[in-house]
Amino acid sequence: NIRMTVDDKQVVTEYFNTVGFERWRRIYSPTERVNRVQQDIRRGHQQTVNIILRWIEEDGGNISEQSFCDAGCGVGSLAIPLAKLGARVAASDISHSMIEEAQKRAKEEWGVIPSSLSFQVQDLLELQGSFDTVLCVDVLIHYSDAQLVSLLDSLSRVAKRRMIITFAPKTFYYVLLKKIGDFFPGPSKATRAYLHEEKDILDSLQQRGWQWIRKDLVKTNFYFCQIVQLEKRNRT
Ligand code: SAM
Repeated sequence: NIRMTVDDKQVVTEYFNTVGFERWRRIYSPTERVNRVQQDIRRGHQQTVNIILRWIEEDGGNISEQSFCDAGCGVGSLAIPLAKLGARVAASDISHSMIEEAQKRAKEEWGVIPSSLSFQVQDLLELQGSFDTVLCVDVLIHYSDAQLVSLLDSLSRVAKRRMIITFAPKTFYYVLLKKIGDFFPGPSKATRAYLHEEKDILDSLQQRGWQWIRKDLVKTNFYFCQIVQLEKRNRT
């Protein structure tokens, strides 16, 4: 199967700079007209963003003293509201189209992008620095189990205290498979959605010293998203 030999990352990058960029830019723009499937995905994704923002607020602490890394930030759907709460946010994405759009949106918000919010074209595998919290929302779905370990490794490496990640749970495998054509219509079908076992992800992170704190499942008709918050285990 030729498809199996295609490097996922190359396919994903190409997709999110072209047809995928346009598709997701529209889904992530509340005022753009989109079809009903896309409206449903937009609604699900917004719920995910809201839950994550709520968790961060509930955890308390002085948010302006906290640093966040948003890996695979897209158009900034989470990074921008987080920066509005006063957080320091380093947002990055492998797609330059996404980063340009995110910067445009931040400029619309502030005029000049505040120094507390940075955008960078960067592969998740090349993340650098050290952040109180690392976020990775709706990115892992684009990668197979074979790539999962190195992606989780990279996120874990730059996270000091807290991680909030999302993935498409394997529980809904057949439901989602039936609907996969709606996720990636037309020629972009080459980019597929991968589902992951929750156990694989949690075990892998546990080995790196992480313990899950809370979870939530967002499920609309076409959007399935398991959100997990993890914290670094105390080594005492
Ligand atoms: N996290 C954003 C959100 O929830 O609004 C965007 C989600 S979008 C479905 C997936 C994003 O992951 C795209 O912007 C894509 O370019 C980015 N992405 C995919 N692979 C990546 C990688 N290896 N490194 C960084 N970003 C990546």
